[in-house]
Amino acid sequence: MRRGLFGGTFDPPHVGHLMMAALAIECLGLDVVEFIPASLPPHKVDGAVSPAEQRVRMTECAVAPFGQLIVSRREIERPGISYTIDTLRAYKTEFPTDQLFWLLGADMLQDFPNWRQAVDVANLVTLAVAPRPRIDLAEVAVQVTRSIKGARIIEIDMPALDISSTWLRARLEQGLLAAPLLPAGVFELIAREGLYRA
Ligand code: ATP
Repeated sequence: MRRGLFGGTFDPPHVGHLMMAALAIECLGLDVVEFIPASLPPHKVDGAVSPAEQRVRMTECAVAPFGQLIVSRREIERPGISYTIDTLRAYKTEFPTDQLFWLLGADMLQDFPNWRQAVDVANLVTLAVAPRPRIDLAEVAVQVTRSIKGARIIEIDMPALDISSTWLRARLEQGLLAAPLLPAGVFELIAREGLYRA
């Protein structure tokens, strides 16, 4: 099985995330992509992040229409900071014969050499990277393979979409139009429960 693993904060999940997962399935021939909301992302320890259960419910709404996309509770059920290496070791134990792909945006790839046990992470997965605006993905990939020998990096063939959860949260807080940029089920849940209102 070719298994895509997509870690993130998903606060909230948006169409960029869905597009990335769908196109990764298409261009890498993946059987499934698991969205893995982080309990406490290492790079957001100081920032305010919405409760994990809320992010999981939104992510479940986002993937609901798509059979090959699922949500994993693996990281939110592990207390403390969610390190990718711990998650990957658990997957490798459970699915020893699967080929694992870690989906991430080019912004996150820039920081990859600083991840906890990055060399071990790179040994366990192929990094499947989506372009992000203003980042030269080819150049970043060269730098990463220079510092992490043997890292396998594949580009997900998709247009760079200049949207982020941070931008969407700001729009929601200000009551600005956000519906077209969020998966329908996610927008309905946010509207129904009044999430992200200032
Ligand atoms: P925030 O603005 O809160 O940092 P985000 O939009 O970057 O959030 P995350 O949940 O932190 O979303 O991202 C999960 C993964 O998805 C990261 O690897 C990130 O690079 C990637 N990603 C997020 N938005 C996009 C996008 N528009 N295009 C490609 N990749 C994206």
